[in-house]
Amino acid sequence: MLESGFSEEDLAAECELMVRQQILERGISSPALLDAFLNVPRHLFVPADYISQAYDDRPLYIGSGQTISQPYIVALMTDSLRLTGGEKVLDVGTGSGYQAAILAEIAARVYTVERIPELAKSAKTLLEGLSYDNIEFLDGDGTQGWPEHAPYDAIIVAAAAPAVPESLKAQLKMKGRLVIPVGKPYGQMLKVVTRTKKGFTTRDACPCIFVKLIGREGYEQ
Ligand code: SAH
Repeated sequence: MLESGFSEEDLAAECELMVRQQILERGISSPALLDAFLNVPRHLFVPADYISQAYDDRPLYIGSGQTISQPYIVALMTDSLRLTGGEKVLDVGTGSGYQAAILAEIAARVYTVERIPELAKSAKTLLEGLSYDNIEFLDGDGTQGWPEHAPYDAIIVAAAAPAVPESLKAQLKMKGRLVIPVGKPYGQMLKVVTRTKKGFTTRDACPCIFVKLIGREGYEQ
């Protein structure tokens, strides 16, 4: 039994139910992706007070005015990157670190950037404690990407931008994919941008609501 009153078995059962009902039954069936969601204990990524809601079908507050995305949205965004293993991925908006852990389960290396130092620090402590040795952390403005490690096979942005940041497009490999919510602060469209020989193609995945991407190529505040 954990301090919270939940047993590890109960939480593992809730995780399995989440994967089946919220991800698989909604049409996302990649075995590597489903395994990743089964392997990452989402309840460790939410504040202790919210542990009973960790596997609910919604986003949750994680402190500093930020949220951990709804499980289905994390799955949809990850699925849109079409990862097969071996990739180098840039994750903008570390937040709780949950999305970074999911990516680290599937891809070879994950570079994650967060602008709020307290969130970056707690995510790093948690992910290192879980023995992820393929994630690197940066405190800073992710609208500028992380040029030292570019180009990336895939880039994922978990905060809403007024437009797709040019710096991120420039850090994509040929055929690389970028998934990002674009639009007004109170409602956006999730966009999937692919780099092609001729430039970039963009498709709309679904309407969504994210916190603001704040930075040089994001919102001002
Ligand atoms: N992927 C996270 C979701 C966090 S919410 C998770 O799995 O929990 C979005 C995060 O983006 C917030 O933590 C916010 O502080 C961060 N963010 C906003 N603008 C940013 C920027 N320009 N660079 C890096 N992180 C940013």
